[in-house]
Amino acid sequence: MINPFSKLGISDDVVNAVKDLGFEAPTPIQEQSIPVLLEGNNDFVGLAQTGTGKTAAFGLPLLELIDFKSNKPQALILCPTRELCLQITSDIKNFSKNISGANVVAVYGGANIMQQLREIRIGVQIVVATPGRMLDIIGRKAIDFTNVKYVVLDEADEMLNMGFQEDINDILSTTPDDKKTWLFSATMPPEVRRIAKNYMESPVELTMGTKNTGNVNIEHEYYTVRARDKYAALKRIVDFNPEIFAVVFCKTKLDTQDVAEHLIKDGYNADALHGDLSQQQRDKVMQRFRDRHMQLLIATDVAARGIDVNNVTHVINYSLPDEIESYTHRSGRTGRAGKTGISICIVNSKEIGKIRQIERIIGKKFTKADLPTGFDVCEKQLFALVHKVHNVEVNEAQIEQYMPRIMDEFAELSKDEVIKRFASLEFNRFLEYYKNAPDLNSTADDRGERGERGERGERGSRPSRGSDGYTRFFINLGSVDDFTRGDLLSFVCNNGKISGKAVGKIDLKGVYSFIEVMDDTADSLLNNFKGVEFNNRGVRIEKTADGDGGGRSRGGFGGGERRSGGGGYSGGGRSGGGERKSYGGGSGRREGGNSGGGFRDFSGRSREDRGGSGAGRRESGGSDRRRRS
Ligand code: AMP
Repeated sequence: MINPFSKLGISDDVVNAVKDLGFEAPTPIQEQSIPVLLEGNNDFVGLAQTGTGKTAAFGLPLLELIDFKSNKPQALILCPTRELCLQITSDIKNFSKNISGANVVAVYGGANIMQQLREIRIGVQIVVATPGRMLDIIGRKAIDFTNVKYVVLDEADEMLNMGFQEDINDILSTTPDDKKTWLFSATMPPEVRRIAKNYMESPVELTMGTKNTGNVNIEHEYYTVRARDKYAALKRIVDFNPEIFAVVFCKTKLDTQDVAEHLIKDGYNADALHGDLSQQQRDKVMQRFRDRHMQLLIATDVAARGIDVNNVTHVINYSLPDEIESYTHRSGRTGRAGKTGISICIVNSKEIGKIRQIERIIGKKFTKADLPTGFDVCEKQLFALVHKVHNVEVNEAQIEQYMPRIMDEFAELSKDEVIKRFASLEFNRFLEYYKNAPDLNSTADDRGERGERGERGERGSRPSRGSDGYTRFFINLGSVDDFTRGDLLSFVCNNGKISGKAVGKIDLKGVYSFIEVMDDTADSLLNNFKGVEFNNRGVRIEKTADGDGGGRSRGGFGGGERRSGGGGYSGGGRSGGGERKSYGGGSGRREGGNSGGGFRDFSGRSREDRGGSGAGRRESGGSDRRRRS
């Protein structure tokens, strides 16, 4: 069978190299642009998102068109950032590994210029450069562009955003008039159009998808929260997605540092990437992220430009970009190489207008999503654990010696009981942390307005608030204790010494339940329950924070004021370079400070231990879907 890249006109040496990279078939942009660019006599404009296989789309034709017997620069690729420059250079080196005499040099700022000059002197055919350093080298008369036949402007919109317009003009003026210019851009603002007009002659124009349309593999969601709840919302989103591998965008360096520090303190595997870090520090952070030793990369727009990490599951816009065009670049960090991804915006109600503007730019609608309740998070984490336990690889040789003792310990318990206990062991911890977690979703009421959202209570399973005249209680008994609602009713009536008539709604859950009793019986119920036990376990019954019937708060775990702190998991994962051993932190300034509350990775292993687990996996299924509104 003929290799699909050969069919497009790529020679065997290069086809074999891309095969080694695991490229089986061209991506749509490669399929469309390679035949056009191979002709070698066209200017070209490709409107394409990052992550679509753009580098090979121009890189493979270049390798066919260049004369590798000559050691003169014949192609110049300009791109906005050092990261992208290194990425393109590495890709082209990989594509050309079977071509003898092929030389590619990366020219970028922040690195030793002497080394770059040396490589240029030895002889290169392809120069990949950021504009500033390129101009510097041109200024030193250290490079001769008279043989340049092709100039590629990659991420042209980004280069203009970063103020490289003049540098590009100056660089292009040193290249021959008859060179061909290939421009790639994710968006086509008027400035990019102008470049196309000024520097190109009747370019062939290819658009991947509709103009300015975002990557089709990316879903866009937004959550509306009060400004002060942003951080808690971020944590909630992360907790609800146990396998998340995300880039979180902030507007300023300060915010980036601040959010990263809080996440680290709260036990998450996070780190910051911004312009105040030295290049060496940035490289380190990026390496940790690439190696999946970190789950959350908190970054500014500028620092994150050109980041090419596959399998990023989510992009989270902790703050919206000032330039809404930047949204396309941010969201393009996920949904790469045919994978799916989710781009999330955490906004306050005043920012919804901006969401609409972004929708117009990307030509796609956002889904308005509700933040999961504490209960949702517990449920999700519980089943993530169940799944993990089910799939765990057992070390038969090591565990064998302990099995008799383990079996002995469990001798009196049925299989059901053992499973229940294993699940409860960690689930109870989550429950403890999240039981008073507030609903973070901001409604129209928060703005003193009405009518933006419909009635709440869209989920039958969500604990409802106390009805008028009733006080709502949390009780640490539920169906896992083999209670039915009737059983719970009689248990509460018998021990609380109240009549069945005084009991309102009963919301039976797994390891806990909610029960309403008439306001005038609430206090005596509490008193009578002191010291009550069930199966040698202390029974805990507490008013929920909205339990006075007034229903101050909405949903969550019985709603209620925020009081618990810290949070998030802490699986002993390394974050910020330090080993974290504590559960859940409790140090989260923004959410108060009730220690010991947080939850950790169910597996009991550090995130780091788990390596690249689940990256690229799109969270889906029941509760995710339910959240859409
Ligand atoms: P790019 O848009 O060039 O940054 O490419 C995005 C990612 O897709 C990179 O990790 C490439 O290695 C990968 N990629 C590019 N072309 C292909 C292909 N034809 N098949 C599989 N992966 C590809």
